[in-house]
Formats: sequence, C-alpha cells, structure tokens
Amino acid sequence: MHEHDRLYIDGHWYAPVGKQYFSVSNPATEAVISRVPAATPVEAGQAVSAARTAAEAWRRTPVAERAAYLTRIHQGLTARAEEIARTITGEVGMPIKLSRRIQAGLPLAVLESYITLLGNYAFEERIGNSLVVKEPAGVAVCITPWNYPLHQVIAKLAPALAAGCTVVLKPSEVAPLSAFILAEVIHEAGLPPGVFNLITGSGESVGEHLAGHPDVDLVSFTGSLRAGRRVAELAAGTVKRVTLELGGKSAAVILDDADLPTAVKTTVGACFINSGQTCTAHTRLLVPEQLYQEAAALAVAAASAYAPGDPLDEQVRLGPLVSAAQRERVRDYIRQGVAEGAELLTGGAEAPDGLTSGFYIRPTVFGRVTPNMTIAREEIFGPVLSIMACRDEEEAVRIANGTAYGLAAAVWSGDPQRAERVARRLRAGQVDINGGSFNLLAPFGGCKQSGYGRELGAYGLEEFLSLKSMQFKA
Ligand code: NAD
Repeated sequence: MHEHDRLYIDGHWYAPVGKQYFSVSNPATEAVISRVPAATPVEAGQAVSAARTAAEAWRRTPVAERAAYLTRIHQGLTARAEEIARTITGEVGMPIKLSRRIQAGLPLAVLESYITLLGNYAFEERIGNSLVVKEPAGVAVCITPWNYPLHQVIAKLAPALAAGCTVVLKPSEVAPLSAFILAEVIHEAGLPPGVFNLITGSGESVGEHLAGHPDVDLVSFTGSLRAGRRVAELAAGTVKRVTLELGGKSAAVILDDADLPTAVKTTVGACFINSGQTCTAHTRLLVPEQLYQEAAALAVAAASAYAPGDPLDEQVRLGPLVSAAQRERVRDYIRQGVAEGAELLTGGAEAPDGLTSGFYIRPTVFGRVTPNMTIAREEIFGPVLSIMACRDEEEAVRIANGTAYGLAAAVWSGDPQRAERVARRLRAGQVDINGGSFNLLAPFGGCKQSGYGRELGAYGLEEFLSLKSMQFKA
C-alpha cells in the first residue's frame, strides 16, 4: 500500500502538524488502498502564503517560459499515463480501457491545448486610446471532486498557470491519489516553489478555510450544489471571484424524425459512462409518445451491454460506484422511482448477480417517468436512465428546461436545422446535436443551478485573468 503522509507546499514535501488521515478505498474490492493527510487550516494558510509570495515573480514570468513549464508537466504526466489510469481505476472504479482514454488521456489533451493557446493568445488589446492588458487574477484556490479527478484538476490548473496565477489545489478526499502523482511531476518539472501547492483535507475544514481566506483572489470550484453554495457564500466575505461547476439533470431530446436506434444507444452510453457519475450525464431521455414503446425496448437492449464487473477487466464497460455511501444514495433513488410510480424496465435496487463485494449497482432504466417525480428532478449520479414521453416538440422543450439545473443537453433530429432550432431553446451550457462530440476548446460550464463561469479553451483561461485599461493621452 502506497501511503501519503506529506503535503506539497512551497516546493517541499511537508509533514502536517496533525496526524489525521483519510483512507482511500478501492470501490471494486472495498479494500483500503492508501491514505492521505487530512490537513488542517494551519497548512492551508501556509499554502496560501506560499502561493502569495510566489505570485509576484510568476506573474512576471514570460508567457513562453510558462508554456515551457506546462510542456515539462505534460511530458512528466505522459510518461506516467498508464500508472495514472490504473490509479484512478483503483480509486474511482472506472473501467481501465475508458480510464486510459479519459482519466489519463483527457488531462493530457487539455494541457496540450493550453500550451498551444499560449502560443497565440493576445494578452493585450488596443481599444481607442486605451491599452487593455489581461493580467493574472492572483492566488487561485482550486477545489475539485472525485469523478474525473485529474481532468478536473488540470481543467483548472493548466489555465491558472498559463494565465500567471499561483495555485492552491484541494482535491477530493475520496479520490486524491492522482493529485500526488501530479505534484511529483510538477516538482520534477522544476516549477518555482509556491506556484503550485497541494493540500488534502475535508471540504468543511480545509475547503471552507481556503474559500474564505482573505489572501486568496479567486476560487474555482467543481462539485455538488450544496458545497458550491457554501463556497460562494464564504468567498463573498472578501468579494473573491468564483467559478462554480455544479451538478446536472441533462435531457436528451429525441424528435420524431431522429435516427431512433442511434439516438437511444448513444443516450444510454452518455448516461452510464463512469457508472453514471458524470455531471453531464444524459439522464433523461425525452421521446415522442408514438415512439415511446420502441425507444423503451431499444434502451433496455442497450442497457444489457453494460453488465457490471471488475474495472480492471479490459472487456468491462460498467464498474462499481465510488463508495458505499454513493451506492446507498443511488439505491434509494431507485426505490423512490418505483414508489412514485415509474415503470422499472430493467435493473433495480438489489445487488447485481454474482458480485458479492464491491459497490456495484444494476444498470437501471425507468419508463413512464413524469416531470414531478424525484428521479426526473434530482441528480442521481448512478447508472439510472429515466424515459419520458412527450406530446410534441413544444412539450419536450418545456420538460427539458423544467429542472433547476442547466449543464448539458442533447438533441436528435433527421433535420439538422430543426435540431439547431430546438438546441437554441434549451437552457444548458452545452448541447450535443445528433451525437456531436466533446470539444475541449469550446467553453464548458452551466447555467441556472449548474453554476457559472466556464472552463476549457480561451474562455477557461479568461476566468483566471483580470482586465486593466490604461488610457494614453492622444
Ligand atoms: P462535493 O461537493 O462533495 O465535493 C467536491 C469538492 O468540494 C471536494 O474537494 C470536497 O472536499 C469539497 N467540499 C465539500 N464541501 C465543501 C465545503 N463546505 N466547502 C468547501 N469545499 C467543500 O462533490 P463530490 O461528491 O466530490 O462530486 C460530485 C458532485 O460534483 C456532483 O454533484 C457532480 O454533478 C458535481 N460535478 C460537477 C462537474 C461540473 O463540471 N459541472 C463535474 C464533476 C462533478
């Protein structure tokens, strides 16, 4: 068991004053696989002070030099990509094949996109007699969740460092291991001390301390609505900038002229990926009443391809949920769906056959779900799809928009113009049209209670920049 007993502060591995730890478990075996320090506000304060001290020199470091550091970090992570994929499969439970591509591959692609962007991004702009300079926002605190642990870190760290900010990272205590690999890589890359600091600890103690800390300029948060609200409240005390990437209850709107088999199969995949533990999961499938029976049969058939199993098996497409608590939450939602009158088409709350240990759950499809049901409104974060029948396009748009969230959506239609028309009416930060693929240069984020601010690409960089206008006498 590889245990971690130090935090990375000011360029050193530092033993915390307290001797409290968080255990990290493998959700497929339930065995404890590691532990990480539960830092206290004392270490969080030290990390902020290191980041503050380093900020002045880092903001003046030429852009090309910042890009060179990012390139070295990219090289270091690339050399350890297989270890990263296995580590994250070990702590989160994502099937290894997907882990290689997404958990290890996506952060590399995002880092690369920022190295490229730094080559041509205009940090200055002339507007009349003004020179507008885009300066680093200062000390950035990044607080991240467990479901795509390294991706969520890199989606904040890469633009922060590119912009010239210094960073205190507080990853999720549930899946913190890849953040330690990252800190080792950053150390080897020779990033100046204090530019990056790693603090592991609980949200309530360390997270809240960082969010309220007067010497922090910006908080970039990804996680639950509950914690995001708290972060925004605390940050308001010193009027910090905040970006919030929160939950979702995304709808796939299938119109009557869509390629139904492709639309349903893709939606099931977009719902079940990472065992449904994905903020953008397409968890509501909206289909015209006349296509309901066919869509339900197609969804059940598609779900049968997601037999849960050992995530280290190269053939497995559905791993366990991340924790026992998460499994219990998802089971409760399934029971509630049944109790509120939804039709259980496949799956259910009982443990899957033949899996005696591990936090596994049956891939579940509900039919005849109506908008007022709990499973249609709340984020489940498990492999549970709700199929809802609609009278027409108008009703589909109304149901799709009828939740508190606004993170993602999909539209399926044989007529691209009609699909685009409907997509424009959906209140969501991103809408995939006829299976359009994820674009890591496009802004990513939500509206309504899915949060505010954007990640990725140039818009993600700008979250870490502050504008200054200098007026010259003509
Ligand atoms: P969580 O909110 O419990 O934890 C996220 C992070 O916030 C962790 O590092 C945690 O320690 C910290 N935290 C918790 N309480 C805090 C507090 N009071 N103050 C400061 N920090 C606090 O969420 P989770 O269970 O790790 O992740 C699941 C949630 O994240 C889901 O709701 C999911 O939709 C959301 N999520 C959103 C996105 C997105 O980009 N929109 C991406 C992934 C996950």
